[in-house]
Amino acid sequence: SREIRLVARPRGEPCPADFAMAETDVSAPGPGECVVRNDWISVDPYMRFRMDEDPGFASPYPLGEALTGAAVGEVVASADPDRPVGTTLLHSFGWREYAVVREGRVVDTSAASAQAYLGVLGLPGLAAYVGLTEIARVRPGDVVFVSAAAGAVGSAAGQIARRLGAARVIGSAGGPAKSARLTDLFGFDAAIDYREGDLDRRLAAAAPDGVDVYFDNVGGSHLRAALDVMRDHGRIALCGAVSRYREYPAPGTDLWPAIARRLTLRGFLVLDHYHLLDEYEARAAAWVHEGTLRSEETVVHGIDNAVGAFLGLLRGANTGKMLVRLT
Ligand code: NDP
Repeated sequence: SREIRLVARPRGEPCPADFAMAETDVSAPGPGECVVRNDWISVDPYMRFRMDEDPGFASPYPLGEALTGAAVGEVVASADPDRPVGTTLLHSFGWREYAVVREGRVVDTSAASAQAYLGVLGLPGLAAYVGLTEIARVRPGDVVFVSAAAGAVGSAAGQIARRLGAARVIGSAGGPAKSARLTDLFGFDAAIDYREGDLDRRLAAAAPDGVDVYFDNVGGSHLRAALDVMRDHGRIALCGAVSRYREYPAPGTDLWPAIARRLTLRGFLVLDHYHLLDEYEARAAAWVHEGTLRSEETVVHGIDNAVGAFLGLLRGANTGKMLVRLT
């Protein structure tokens, strides 16, 4: 079985030489374990942090060992009666073709595709849900702005905001094709292609009465632009700062308007909210079924291209969830 290891800690943007492919034997499952053939592996922006010596929120990926991350696949050998051969399992040993798994979540592939549990029904979807409900507390009538809105979290956030009663949902994304997706597929009221420049002016034009909730996936100049259009007592959910994941060292952002306008800016990590996963999955599955929560996937094929998928994700090569298909 092949796996991808981290062999050097990137500074700023990772490069292919930071990774290496290795071949390993797959051991037979011990009691309570099963062997999963990974059909889909997820690449996610947070993995960039875990490549640092001090990620700040989780343990660093050890050098010389296989990377980890979400994956789904089929049980091909089992010593666990609850997870017999043929079960589809969601687990955290991605970046490899076969995984020996002790903990994993059995997923219902009659309700949705297996890979949906890596995206709209998985942690990206949950992050969107938590940010809007627990953190920013979207209320009916709110004007909501979402950045990286054509991505996995952002596309879910825009649509869930609508489900929660937002009156106007504005999104930003890079390039004309992605911006068009926001309005055509994901139901945003207005889309901003930030690569055209002049983000501040165009955001102000899209939100003439201001913004109540900003769901921030990008940080940097996006956060700065959003601060300038926030209404009094607006709420900002700080979900990510992807514009800075390739920079070293990361530049600071002036948060003065947050003080002047008595804003609530609250960071969060989805890992503190796993107790909401069942609630989210049930609501999201119903929205997916009725067609009000759509998702898109960018699929890269083969473990040989997994590193390229990850590097591309940080540069915007994806629309919707970036996935690697192994089988
Ligand atoms: P996405 O699917 O959104 O992929 C990343 C996107 O970032 C790219 O497609 C690209 O889109 C955008 N991007 C890259 N560089 C820039 C830039 N300079 N300015 C603006 N946009 C840029 O990834 P996810 O949906 O998985 O993650 C989105 C965010 O949510 C990330 O910041 C991530 O860290 C965060 N996150 C946080 C969690 C939490 O628990 N707090 C959980 C999960 C995700 P484009 O082409 O539009 O630029």
